Formats: sequence, structure tokens, C-alpha cells
Amino acid sequence: VRVTAIAGGTGAAKLLRGLAACVAPGDLTVVGNTGDDAEIWGLHVSPDLDTAVYALAGRLDARRGWGLRDETFRCLDGMAEYGAETWFNLGDRDLATHVFRTAALRAGQPLSTVTQVIARRLGVEARVLPMSDDRLRTRLRTPDGWLDFQEYFVRDKTQVHVLEVWYDGAGVARPAPGVVEAIADADVVAVCPSNPVTSVGPVLAVPGIVDALTAGRARVVAVSPIVGEAAVSGPAGELMRSRGLPVSPLGVARAYAPWLDVLLVDAGDHGLARELARLGVTAVPADILMTDREREVALARRVLEAAA
Ligand code: GDP
Repeated sequence: VRVTAIAGGTGAAKLLRGLAACVAPGDLTVVGNTGDDAEIWGLHVSPDLDTAVYALAGRLDARRGWGLRDETFRCLDGMAEYGAETWFNLGDRDLATHVFRTAALRAGQPLSTVTQVIARRLGVEARVLPMSDDRLRTRLRTPDGWLDFQEYFVRDKTQVHVLEVWYDGAGVARPAPGVVEAIADADVVAVCPSNPVTSVGPVLAVPGIVDALTAGRARVVAVSPIVGEAAVSGPAGELMRSRGLPVSPLGVARAYAPWLDVLLVDAGDHGLARELARLGVTAVPADILMTDREREVALARRVLEAAA
């Protein structure tokens, strides 16, 4: 089976590792969110693409859920000595990724090309594509004004009230080469358990991607990032509320209807099956908490079975 996964960061990383254990590497494509890309110290940082690549390379720091294992932070200390902003914790080895990517982008390479080079160099055989080579930035309006995603997520630790989410640049962004084809040619599209507003939302905001999902022959299976009435982790709940979506698997289905076929939900949420069916979505109960590697693989298998 050919699988294309739509992925954000930490939640996605776990399912991607599971999928990589079940699918031949040549049959797995990841379409990653770049709405939370940022310029830090003049470097182009792509947190979600890097999380996907590091996870698939077996080098992600699993405890933090971002960055590289066995990382050091000497450059960060040095920047602090110069009085630079250090709230975005760039590790020393991680910095090499950002320096390498920034140099390639400045030399005129598209993000999709340099992402593929980074993935290959780290031994990742699956294809990792940014949703777009064009600039699209998730911005959040708070009572004190607009924030970039990383200002909201990392600097302010999501402790601000969000009134509105805006995908800046979405109107003119084009899917990166291979993205529409990867969705059209897939047997299964897996929507990882990622934040529906700030991880999957930006991908869907790129014109052409929803059309590909709607027109494609693939079965589209999502894993709910919401259990009961709360996100497993992070600000997905508050952000869904800011968009008028109920904080429940129903809200996830509403964000992904009409192209979503199956939603994997916690067994305790299976009572929503009838309401989900009304949205055209089949609820499949599963152990959707990936607390260890075995569970990651088991859930990936369940995604593939649910699509069959
Ligand atoms: P971020 O960019 O780091 O926020 O990463 P993602 O958007 O990929 O992941 C965050 C989302 O994944 C949150 O909404 C969590 O509720 C969800 N999540 C994290 N771990 C798990 C898990 O093990 N199972 C499920 N079902 N959802 C998870």
C-alpha cells in the first residue's frame, strides 16, 4: 500500500514512526506543515519538517518530542552572552540543519529540495515533502495584537488568549512539487493526530490540497488528537474553540469533513459514532494514545486496517 501522511510535529512523529515500521519506505510520503516555520537568528527553521525527519531517522529526542537526542546547547549559551533572544531553544547539532537549509534556500533551492537532501543524509528513505515551497505563516490574533506561531507556542507557552488564526500567504501558496500527486496516487491518506488548527489547518489552506483529498481515490483516515473533551497535549482545544469547533472528536471530524472517511477515536468516544456518521465519517475505536513504540506501531496498523 502507498501511504501519504499529513503531519504536524510531536503528535505526528509518533504515528510516522509507527507507519514507517509497517510500510515499505518507498511507499511512505509525508506532507509536512510549514505554517509554523520561523526565522531565528537569521536562520530558516522548519520545526515540523525537522521533527518528522528526526523521528524517521530515529534521532528525535523522544522525551521532549522535538530536537535531537543527546543535544548540547553551547551556541544558545553564547547567544545569551551577546544578549540575543534565546527563547527558541536551538541545539548545537540541530543548528547544522538550519544553517544547511538556510544556505540552500539563499542559493535558490526550493524548500522541498533541501528537505529531501536533509532527509536522505540522515538516512530517511521515506519521502518528506513540505506542503508548499511558498511562504505561508500561521499567525494568531490575541487581545494584544498578532503573534507568529512560535512566539505564541514557544515564547509565550500558549498562555495567551487567541481570538483568531490566520494563514498568511495561503491565498497564493502552491502545493510543493509531488504533494498533489502523493495524495492522488496514495491508497491511504493518514491524517496524523496533530493540531487541527495550527498543524493540519495550514496544509489544508494551501489551494489544491483539499481538492486533491476530495478527488483522490485513497481512503482518508485520521487519528483524533482529542480524547473526550480535551487535547492529548498542547493548545488544540483552545484553538478549536477559537474557530467555533467543539472540542471533541466531532470537532475534528467537522474540520476534516467532507473528505474524511474514517476517524480513529478513543474507545470512550465511540458513543459519538452516530453523529460522526451524519458527517459521513466512520468512527473506529482504537487505542489512540501512543505512549510507547509498540503502541505507535499498533496504531499505525489500525490506521491501515481501517482504510482497507
Ligand atoms: P505540535 O506541532 O508539536 O503541536 O505537534 P502536532 O500538531 O503534531 O501534535 C499535537 C497534537 O497531537 C495535540 O493536539 C495532541 O493532542 C495530539 N497528540 C499528541 N500525542 C498524541 C497521542 O499519542 N495520541 C493522540 N491521539 N494524539 C496525540
